[in-house]
This record gives sequence, C-alpha cells and structure tokens, in this order.
Amino acid sequence: MVEEKAEDMRIWAGFFPGTSFADGKCYLAPGFGNSCVFETEEGLVVFDFPLRQLAKRTFNSVRSFTDKPIKYVIYSHGHFDHAFGYGPFLEEIKEKEWEMPEVIAHENCIRRFEKYKTLDKYHNWLNKMQFASIRGRGQGSVISPHEILQPSIILKGNDSYYSFELGKTEFEIYHDMGETDDSLWLWVPEKKTLCAGDLVMAGFPNVGNPYKVQRYPNDLALAMEKMVEKEAELLVPGHGRLIEGKEKVNEALSIRAEAMHFVHDEVVKRLNEGKWFEQIYHEMMEIFPKKLKNSKILIEIYGCYRFAVHAAYRLYHGWYNSGNPTDLFPSKSGDIAKEFLKINTKESYLEHGKTLYDAGKKQLALHILDVIINGREDENDITLFEALNLKHKILKEKQKEETSFIASNIINNNALQIKERIKELKNT
Ligand SMILES: [Zn+2]
Repeated sequence: MVEEKAEDMRIWAGFFPGTSFADGKCYLAPGFGNSCVFETEEGLVVFDFPLRQLAKRTFNSVRSFTDKPIKYVIYSHGHFDHAFGYGPFLEEIKEKEWEMPEVIAHENCIRRFEKYKTLDKYHNWLNKMQFASIRGRGQGSVISPHEILQPSIILKGNDSYYSFELGKTEFEIYHDMGETDDSLWLWVPEKKTLCAGDLVMAGFPNVGNPYKVQRYPNDLALAMEKMVEKEAELLVPGHGRLIEGKEKVNEALSIRAEAMHFVHDEVVKRLNEGKWFEQIYHEMMEIFPKKLKNSKILIEIYGCYRFAVHAAYRLYHGWYNSGNPTDLFPSKSGDIAKEFLKINTKESYLEHGKTLYDAGKKQLALHILDVIINGREDENDITLFEALNLKHKILKEKQKEETSFIASNIINNNALQIKERIKELKNT
C-alpha cells in the first residue's frame, strides 16, 4: 500500500516519459503538471507551461519532439504548476528572434496572478506545507509570483468560448469552473483530443483544499458532462498519464461527474434538512457509495472525498459550523485545556489517551492528548513529553495510512514540528 501510494503520486507528479499520440503530431510532456503540444504546419499550440522548477526538463522533452516555434499558449488555469514554466521557451524565442506567441487565459486567471502578488509570502508558506514532502527532496524552492508571462487573449465571463485555426487545425477553448474559477479546457476535433487541465487529474478531483479558496464540485460535474458530449478518444489530464480510447475517456469523465453531483447534492439535501457541518460530514462518510469509494479512477491521490464535502458545504454556508453558540466566539484552546486539567490530572488524560490509542481510536486519542499539550503550564514535564511522543506516533501512523498527498503532508508537517519540540525537551 505504501509503495502503491508512492507510485501513484509519482505518476500524478509527472514522473513518466513524454509521449506522442493521435497522428504523431501531438505530444504530452509531463513536468509535475502536464504540458500538451500540438504541431501544425504553421507552428505549435501549447496547452500549459508546467512547474517552473521542472521547466528545463519539459522544454527538453518538447524539443525532442519538434523544433517549430510556438504560436499559441493556453493556460488551463493560473496555478504554479500550469502557467509558470515558460522560462526556457521564452529564452528560445528571444534567441531565435521568433514572434511572441499569443497567450490565452480566462479573466479570473489575471485576478489570480494579482492575488499571488498580494499574498506572495502567504502562498509560499502554505505551499511549503502542502508540498512538504517534495520540498524535502529539494524540488520545492519558492516561485516568484511577480514573474508572469501575461495573457494577450482574455476570455471573459461564464460560458465564454474562443476558437482559432492554426495550420488548418481548429482549436476550441471553453471556460468552466471546477478545481478553480479560471479553468479553460481545449477540444481539438481533428485529433479527437481533449485537454482538461486540472478539471481532470489522476484520482479524485481536487476540490476542497484545506488551505485554499473555494472550489466548485457542481460546476466540475457540469464541465465533465460538456466534455462527454465531444465523444473524445484521447484525454490529457492536468496530472497523470494520457487517457486513451473512447470508452475510457467517457468513463473517466462520467464517474467524476457522478462523484461531484453526489457530493454536491447530498450536502445540499442535508443543508435543507437544517443540519450542521459536523453532522453532514459524518453522515457523508457513511453514505459514500461503494462504486465511487472503490473506483480505481477516483483513488484519493491528491484531492479526496472528505475535502470535497467541505467544498460543497462552503458553497452555501459561512464559517459557523456547529450551531452551538459556545463556538461562535470561543475562548483560546489553551485556556479551555487548562480548565480541563483542573478537573482531572494530566496523568489521567495521558492514561486515557493511551487507552484510546490501544483500542484503535486514534482520532479520539489525539483530542485527549491535546488537552495536555495545549494546557501545559510547564515545558519541562514528563507527561507533556509522553503526550507529544504518543501524538507524534499517531500522526506518523495516520500519515502512512493516508492516501491523499495534501492530507498526508499536513499531518506529516505537524509530526515534524512535534519531533523538533521533543528534541528540544530532551535537551533541557
Ligand atoms: Zn495542477
């Protein structure tokens, strides 16, 4: 299971060879996210410039396929792993004195770039946590959001559409929301090829990232249904391998639509029943249909069902989650824990935490251990030391069981912080 998880993530992150497809004039070049190149008599159309740190690799891969100049670039959306890896291509354009290509994006992508500039330090901080395990391997250095290849053709509004012809090939671009609000996808009828960006990525759709802004499960379902109508034979996902064959493409799109409709509609139904988030979330865990849960297509490599429930809820609800006014203006968690420690000793909390852990109730054990960790008066305390050790052990176990890359990194990041604290305590 651990090896399987690592291999799924490697493929998701583009560690597989570039590949030509269709009539041999199309090429998928992975670089964390995927880049897709269409070669025509008049030059190239490139769908996405993936991660800047891997841009040289993507460039070399593309240039092993074709030496023609780029005429059009399409940003599937403005994330770092789809619109920032243009450096070596731009150098080549300058060196060979080629004309600059047209760069196509949705207007929300321009807003995204502005947001990245405003929140550059915050995004660097949260991306370090989201991609912690990659950073550990030295590939996660900070990307400057101030260096951007700005779009020249901008699609505006919902349901926007743009098409152009290059070298007698027709390219159709559609806007839909899903993982983000600035998504564009491409349909090339002659090649029967769809490029979906992150509207389709290997595994469960990435809606409901714990750190990031609202995502759109219902819109993602509608995008899948629009793509199904094209009856494509090839589907280039934002991450992962090329999907080949009419049936497989149809299945890949349909099951994602089904999953997103399910999450959205079941959450909405429960909101209408007057339920609060906690109840909705736990009910949703119980009713996750086996067909979706066991689907190989929807394995939780990066995004996951649990996050998608949050995304559906947040579409229609604010931050007041429990319906209990105690939680409306809560006290500090440290102060609450201190009061609990007045009722019972920290040793008894530790004992109870261990009992829960031994009974396999890891999540409950974490809540109990947090009473000691949050409520401690003294850093130099054997009970605190033991509580931290057990919490670290539980988090590492949870991380190993966790398939979602994002969830796994969040858990592991905190485990690493606890390990540091344990080391400091040992030294005092
Ligand atoms: Zn991506």
